Amino acid sequence: MTDHWKTILRSAAAFLILLAPNLYASLVASDLASPAKAIAYLLVVCIGLALPMLFLRRRAYFIVIGILNLFCAPIEIASLYLNHNPATATFLGLFFSTNRQEVAGILSVIWPLLILLVLIWIGYFVLVSFQPNEWIIPRKTGIRIAGIGLPILFVCAIGFFSIYARKINNLQTTKEVVLLAKDITLMKFYKIFPYNIYLNSFHIAQQRHAMKEAQAALGPFRFGLTAKQDSIPELYVLVIGEAARSENMSINGYARSTTPRLEQRSRLVSLPHFYSQAGTTEYAVPHMISRIPVTRHNEVNSEKTLPEAFQEAGFRTAWLTNKSRADYLQRVLESADIHFETGKDMSVTNNYDEYLLKPLQDLLVSGVKKQFIVVHTMGSHWRYDTRYPAAFEQFTPALGESFSLSMINPSNKQKLVNAYDNTILYTDYFLDSLITLVEAQAVPAVVMYMSDHGENLYDDERELILHGNYSATRWLFHVPFFVWYSDEYAALHSDKIQQLQAHTDSRDNSSVLFASLLDAADIGYINDTTSATQLHTRSIFSTDYSAPDTLYVFTAEEKCVVLEQD
Ligand SMILES: [Zn+2]
Repeated sequence: MTDHWKTILRSAAAFLILLAPNLYASLVASDLASPAKAIAYLLVVCIGLALPMLFLRRRAYFIVIGILNLFCAPIEIASLYLNHNPATATFLGLFFSTNRQEVAGILSVIWPLLILLVLIWIGYFVLVSFQPNEWIIPRKTGIRIAGIGLPILFVCAIGFFSIYARKINNLQTTKEVVLLAKDITLMKFYKIFPYNIYLNSFHIAQQRHAMKEAQAALGPFRFGLTAKQDSIPELYVLVIGEAARSENMSINGYARSTTPRLEQRSRLVSLPHFYSQAGTTEYAVPHMISRIPVTRHNEVNSEKTLPEAFQEAGFRTAWLTNKSRADYLQRVLESADIHFETGKDMSVTNNYDEYLLKPLQDLLVSGVKKQFIVVHTMGSHWRYDTRYPAAFEQFTPALGESFSLSMINPSNKQKLVNAYDNTILYTDYFLDSLITLVEAQAVPAVVMYMSDHGENLYDDERELILHGNYSATRWLFHVPFFVWYSDEYAALHSDKIQQLQAHTDSRDNSSVLFASLLDAADIGYINDTTSATQLHTRSIFSTDYSAPDTLYVFTAEEKCVVLEQD
């Protein structure tokens, strides 16, 4: 064999080693279920991986890419193995997190990979050391590809994703479509190993920096709340739902039986006329856990939040989540005494809310007397059919395995609604299971559940679906709101329960949560009569409670508008 062919064979072998995590992805990633998608993915990966050949000579290329690639391969493979998904910022966040428990769990899965890695590493660099240091692609050709070929490829990709961008988001102008298509094209690199590891790590580093600055700015902030000194056990749980709409819950009058378990619950009160303050998680959740209503949206980060208020009052706080890592919540999450992240992203197809029950149970039996716990769920977030195990597929036909984005189409309305209703049925099971765990503690306890926002399901002639870039429809904002209390709580606070029952017809929004939870726990202000008055007028447990005349919502265009009437 000539030296030339030996070089080519060694290069091919080294390239295959570099490609190993991507080949594994093409077999197991849930996004790449069809052969066509897997082939397209591998094609893009090969182009992406080969790109640096334009700028590096052969040996330098394999050494640089080898080092960049092999270090991260175990993380990528662990993510593919556990989540059937390339490593996301949410997954990588576990490695950056101050809570090492989840990382230990991951390492226990991937340690054989680490040994395998060392062996591959040795083999790879032996192969590479035999490589001559010449240009793989002749210089002139390389410059032509970089100058002409790549821009053409990029324009083609934008053209391709424009078709989806137009269909999914109902965008009007060509500029909007092209900008979104450009973002989609660039976002693809966040899913392609090894770029995903570096891009997401960089994003997390930025996020951590911003978080530290935000924390430092809030440093001396205090609400001025009374600290609870007694040793009576107390437990308050706030469950934040996701994209659940009130209309599709039988407990609130929906024709299909989607909430059979909650309907059987005693001491569970539904307040059926409550609304979210925004139509996206990003804008809605901060106002659920803040004193600041959406009409003062710009100030929402100028104060600490509900878990921090409970902390100030002497409670141990915890935040449990299986949501995607998000800039706007990371500071709050990490300022809790305990936080638990499943590390599963929105796109993970085996990400069920019940994974939060075990960490919740661990907190409940930990012996801590006063606890405030936030449980942030994935609920009914798109893709509906991936939010519940098969046993909950009661309304059929749902979307099914062979899903593609083109199924988001008005002609598929019934399937979409069926899959959505299955997510509600699963939420019913999840909340009922959670309440059972809390009830078993036999302590004064309150569980509140409210969804962050609702969802559009092709409800009227506007033919809107999902949530986000849309006009302020009532389906997007009308959310379920449930309050459950234990026997032990009722025995201590019959007055508050009486008030709660008296307020079930109120038309109000998520701005009641802050005041209501503090009031439920009898936490008050020390020397601040204005705040104390505000607390009582906004608490559903108070005799002074009053609902506002006008409800406002924050739109995706960052405008505060009056909510549509039913
Ligand atoms: Zn949401």
